[in-house]
Formats: sequence, C-alpha cells, structure tokens
Amino acid sequence: MADFFSRMDDAKYNQFIDDIISKKPLTDDMIREMLSITDRDSLKKMSDAAVFVKNQYFGNSIYLYSFVYFSTYCKNQCSFCYYNSKNKIDRYRVTPEELRRMCEELKDEGVHMIDLTMGEDPHFHDAPEKLLEFVRTAKEITGLPVMVSPGVVDNDFIKALAAEGADFFALYQETYQKELYGKLRIGQSFEERIQARSSAKVAGICIEDGILTGFSKMKLSSGEPINPSVSDDIESAIVSIRGMQEADPDQVRVMTFEPQPGTPLAETAQASDLMELKVISILRFVFPDRLIPASLDVAGIPGMVDRLNAGANVVTSIISADSKLEGVVNFDRDVSLNERKRDAKSVIEKLHEMGLERGSQESFESYLNRNKTI
Ligand code: SF4
Repeated sequence: MADFFSRMDDAKYNQFIDDIISKKPLTDDMIREMLSITDRDSLKKMSDAAVFVKNQYFGNSIYLYSFVYFSTYCKNQCSFCYYNSKNKIDRYRVTPEELRRMCEELKDEGVHMIDLTMGEDPHFHDAPEKLLEFVRTAKEITGLPVMVSPGVVDNDFIKALAAEGADFFALYQETYQKELYGKLRIGQSFEERIQARSSAKVAGICIEDGILTGFSKMKLSSGEPINPSVSDDIESAIVSIRGMQEADPDQVRVMTFEPQPGTPLAETAQASDLMELKVISILRFVFPDRLIPASLDVAGIPGMVDRLNAGANVVTSIISADSKLEGVVNFDRDVSLNERKRDAKSVIEKLHEMGLERGSQESFESYLNRNKTI
C-alpha cells in the first residue's frame, strides 16, 4: 500500500508543505501514517519537507548551546537514568570557583546559550541561592543567555530564577502516557512536572519540553517489557506530541532511549534512531517555528548531521574539547576527552560542510524575546 508521501504527486506534496508553513494542524492519523513510513524515498520526502519548513522560519541558521552538567548528584530514581540515586557511580558537584573558570573559557567559544544542568541535587534544591548564584555567574561572565535545567522546583524558586535573568527553563516530561511515566520517573508527580513548566512560562522564561522514543524495546532486568499495554512507540509519540502542545513550548526535543549501565533498564536492546528522526520531522510539522535540538549526546557529530537533516535547528550538548564534565547519555563515555569532538569549533566546521551556518546572536536573542512586550 502506498504510504503518506508516496501517494502524493508534486502538487499535493507542495500543498502539504504550504499547509504546514501556514500552521494547519496535523491530525493524529496523519502523524500515525508518517511515523509508520519505512520506504527510503518517502522518508527522504518527509525530512526534506521538514528542512524546507525549518528554512522558512530560520533559514540556514543553526544555534549552539554549551552544556554544563554542574552536579551529577540526584535524589531521584528515574529508571532510565545513569545518574539515578541508586546507581553506584562516581559523582561530582562543580564549585562556584570552578564554574567561574569554566564560564571564562566558554565565553568566546561561539555558543549562543549556556545550559546549566543538574540532577535534583538537594545541595541546590534546598538552598536556591546557590543555584541563583550559578545563573548570575554564567550570565555575568559570558554575557550570554542562560538555560537552567534544575528538575522540578516550586513557583517561588522559578520566580527567583526569572528575577535573576534565567532565559530558558528545560524540564522534560519524557512521556505523556501516565502509566509509562510512573515506570520511568519513579515516585515523581506527573502533574507537578507540568506545573513547573507552566509556572516558568508565566514568569516570562522560555520553556523546553522533551520526550523519549525507543519504549517498545524497553525491558526490566527480569525481561518483562516495561509497559506492555502501551509499548507501541508510534502511539506513545502521538500522545506525547499532543501533550507537549498543551503548554506551547519554545523548544521541543525527542531523544532515543539509551540503556544505561547499572540501571533497571540496562539490559534493554538499543532501539535504532529511525523513530527519533521521524519524530523530529513531525515536531517540525507540529511546531514549525520553534527551536528543535539535535543533541550531540546520543551519536556525536554524525548523529547531529542526521538530526539537522530531519528538521532540527539547534545543536545541544556542546562540551569543550578539554572538559572533564559529563553529558547526560554520554554515547562517548569511554572515549578520551580530546577525541570527543563535541566542541563548538568541530560543530561549526561540520555546519559549514553541510551548507549551514552559525546563526547570529542577535537573531537567537530576538527569538527568546519574541513574546516580551518591553
Ligand atoms: S533523569 Fe534527572 S531527575 Fe531523573 S534520576 Fe536522572 S538526573 Fe535525576
């Protein structure tokens, strides 16, 4: 049977793209059909359409975020995460002085934003001033916008982050299927997570949400599928895309679940990144004028290229060549630091090879400020 794109003639294909650019919504059936595509030519048509839509809103400009994972301590036990509190791993917490030194090094690297990320570390959660100081330091030293990813924090904490000048608040739901959420983010409230993002939006901070794919392969160490009743990645993606739409996020991401050593899901077979690439294109169709990241954390520069070719327009998880800090997934955990090639210079070189360019700081900041009235 002909699939969604192979049954379109050129006129219908162009009409589809025009409809997306004019923000005509996709139905669930359209998304389901597109996520079911396996034919190579049709996949290419889908990703080409996504890049065309991206170009209408952002041209050839790509934005770069520097990733500063400043504390790998966490009180939570997310079943998919290497840094969950039960995993017996070496952890670190950057000191204020270390952060200052890192910001001095980062300020001229060519990134557009500093992403300050941590696990839900009580050292910062119980003393918001310590995190506010980090935001202040990063902004003052680099002069760049700051994204903060502190986990779920209350409204007063968020207001204080806004007052300190935090520009972006990143908090990933991972899935909008509640039953599956309960098995991934063990013991954490589904609603409080949504509420934290909406508090950030009300406080005037841009928000990022994110989801995972690769659930159909997820298995607990017992061999049991993590969620047999909703194991279908396609239906999961549809529910989660609709869930993300509710809060009108400024940035949306999808990442393939990667089994992490020492976690309850360690024995899961790694899913291919095909579903992630399809979801990136769908995200571009559903959120045509929003930022969509290509993370270096999953498959490095080759993975970045695939994701930009699927419609992404931001490169995240950029780490300086000499950084000792971690990524979140760390496909390259075993690779020596100077071979990681996750630095801004390597990324910009590859962008040029692809005919893309580093966007201007001014255009990036005007995106961040597009909804501000003053
Ligand atoms: S995903 Fe975040 S909150 Fe969950 S265990 Fe990992 S660091 Fe902690």
